[in-house]
Amino acid sequence: MRLLVADTHSHSNPIRGLGASRIAERFKKEGGWFMALVSLSPWAYNIDFEGFESYVKVVDLHLRECKEAEEEGLKIACLAGFHPADVDRLIDKYRIEPGNVLELGLRVVEYLENLCREGVLDGIGEVGRQHYKTSPERVLIASAIMERAMQAARDYGCIIHLHLENSGKITVELVDRAYRRLGADNKATSRIVFHHANPKTAMEAIARGYSASVPGIPRLVEAAISRLEPSFTLESDHIDDPYRPGTVTYPWDMALLLKRLLERGVVDSSYLEKINVDLVEKIYKVSP
Ligand SMILES: [Zn+2]
Ligand SMILES: [Zn+2]
Repeated sequence: MRLLVADTHSHSNPIRGLGASRIAERFKKEGGWFMALVSLSPWAYNIDFEGFESYVKVVDLHLRECKEAEEEGLKIACLAGFHPADVDRLIDKYRIEPGNVLELGLRVVEYLENLCREGVLDGIGEVGRQHYKTSPERVLIASAIMERAMQAARDYGCIIHLHLENSGKITVELVDRAYRRLGADNKATSRIVFHHANPKTAMEAIARGYSASVPGIPRLVEAAISRLEPSFTLESDHIDDPYRPGTVTYPWDMALLLKRLLERGVVDSSYLEKINVDLVEKIYKVSP
């Protein structure tokens, strides 16, 4: 039986890296059928930062990437966002006032929400909180932008990919409190994805009805498989940057890893089908 593989958080960079069509072609050869393709920050594509317009350019470029991956025969969820690290970069490198960074992030998210409502995008991502040490007001700015993005899940069922600090229960508790403050009790929670989740954070997120996507690297996949029900999905978080090749992993390497684990009997095919097909169908409303 052919193993179908879904990569629920991945990037592509047609300017510096392989780009979506080559990635999709190679992933498909190894059993890939679905990819949630998430935009990168403007400077990753050599787009000079010139305010809001730079993010509009990112979305245009990313929509073309999503289309090209689809043309290779993959099912795609197309997401664009405002990465928490953008907050730091905009303040440090571009000398934008913190208040203006907040305003920009909110404006970008509102723009993305409109595109999602119109069906142009499937969701917003990445948004969230920095996973490294930074100043308190910057974390709060990133959080405020994340909370604004979650309204799009509440109101329009948009998929939201959260990039967070991965501290297990407290990470999930803080997101859950924020989401409930929006008056969104149990509404569209499965459309909110804790991306790059470690097994501990994934378990807490799933227990509260959220979705979790675990990096498809050997250590984390084996830990997740041994500890969790087939209730999480897997991601490559491939950044398609030739200066950091294979970071975090290649989608096709993730597929090969699953094949090896299946052959070694570490996992059975029904477990893999649940996480690569059934769950993806449920969260993203697509079928192979
Ligand atoms: Zn991330
Ligand atoms: Zn990412």
